[in-house]
Amino acid sequence: MTDWEGPLGEAYERAKAYLTTLPERPVGPRATAAELHQALAHPLPQHPTDPQEVIAHLAKGVEEGLLPSGSGRFFGFVFGGATPAALAADWLTTVWDQNAGLYAASPAAAVVEEVAASWLVELFGLPAQTSVGFVTGAQMANFTGLAAARHAVLRQAGWDVERDGLIGAPPIRVLAGAERHDTVDRALRFLGLGTSCIMPIEVDGQGRMRADALTAALRDIDGPTIVCAQVGNVNTGAIDPIAEICQRAHEAGAWVHVDAAFGLWAAVSPTLKPLLAGIDKADSWATDAHKWLNVPYDSGLVFCAQPNAHRAAMSVRASYLIHDENGERDSLEFNPEFSRRARGFAVYAAIRALGRDGIAEIVDRCHAMANRFAETLKAHGVAVLNDVVLNQVLVRFGDDDELTRKVVSAVQHEGTCWMSGTTWHGKAAMRISVSNWTTDEDDVDKSVAAILRCLAREGL
Ligand SMILES: *Cc1c(COP(=O)(O)O)cnc(C)c1O
Repeated sequence: MTDWEGPLGEAYERAKAYLTTLPERPVGPRATAAELHQALAHPLPQHPTDPQEVIAHLAKGVEEGLLPSGSGRFFGFVFGGATPAALAADWLTTVWDQNAGLYAASPAAAVVEEVAASWLVELFGLPAQTSVGFVTGAQMANFTGLAAARHAVLRQAGWDVERDGLIGAPPIRVLAGAERHDTVDRALRFLGLGTSCIMPIEVDGQGRMRADALTAALRDIDGPTIVCAQVGNVNTGAIDPIAEICQRAHEAGAWVHVDAAFGLWAAVSPTLKPLLAGIDKADSWATDAHKWLNVPYDSGLVFCAQPNAHRAAMSVRASYLIHDENGERDSLEFNPEFSRRARGFAVYAAIRALGRDGIAEIVDRCHAMANRFAETLKAHGVAVLNDVVLNQVLVRFGDDDELTRKVVSAVQHEGTCWMSGTTWHGKAAMRISVSNWTTDEDDVDKSVAAILRCLAREGL
């Protein structure tokens, strides 16, 4: 009899201890790299070790090197934590260990994905026929959406890119905002288009693509064209004027892909939804469940209004596989992966547990807490560099790069909260992202107090 109780019981106890102490835990790693190497770098084991002992040793070894990004006072990058239902479903995903590539390999995973996909399409208000892929993150969602775009615009030009590749193909132009996310450039590299296919479109002071600049650029080009818009600038949270972008791009016969890694969730909030007007007019969208929906890593989502293009770009057949003939979902038709984790279980559980209202409540509360950061810091003379439209706040201390970087570093070491730094319009800034499902007023007030303490100590 295999002893499951030992290692799983150990993991459960460790998990409970971690999760229940998360609210009081210092928000930042405590150990140095040298200490972590010291704790973890064992010689290659020659002999077996008891699994429970391995788990206990692993948990103890990493303890001080974990960044408690699930804390309500973690505001770094745009991370998000994990809600209880999503976390528990993710555990079972590992226990069931389904290969979600094919219906035949896991009928349950395929059906759960199909249901979750239809919920997501409805939540975001996308066209009913939209196809969905459960990928690792927005990087691969951008890759997959842009692969569908590449297929469609070249097909329109009479070129079969899946068969003939890009050598000799008509050139593709990608019109993307100057403040696009770097994963767009990386996806274009993976797709063989390279970054020189990008025509950067001028943005406004918040990082939004200027529709007039796009219109002018579209006038000057013809041939296969992809427009890549953004909902949720990674620094400011700014949202491109999607309705106008879609209209202009479609008049010019271009495909519109939207990188909405965190911003798409704003479509679930009745208050914020108007900011995304016209979002349903795009052709493909990338978002993350592991950001604002607070599903554990890794969980990205790609949507395509033209399922045929999505399929043409991704699908694969192999003689030894069982491809479903009855209209059930073979996810390798929509995913760049072959074998893959059944990511749909956690997304399904997350949506079921929260409901539309619960998701909207998280989004609205994060938005309100971002505003609370901005208002309170402003009241203490701290400069807020952006309009707070979603969950992102950029602040700067004493109009001084060095002081700003010092405060960011001091806050990271102090342990009350954790924020990262950035450079915006050539100036150093502290970047505050409110993306965790538990963050409340008390978290914000404690964090503001910590920032002001560090600022006072660093010299103002
Ligand atoms: C986070 C983010 C990405 C990358 O997402 P991953 O999940 O890390 O792959 C892409 N675009 C934007 C706007 C983002 O915020």
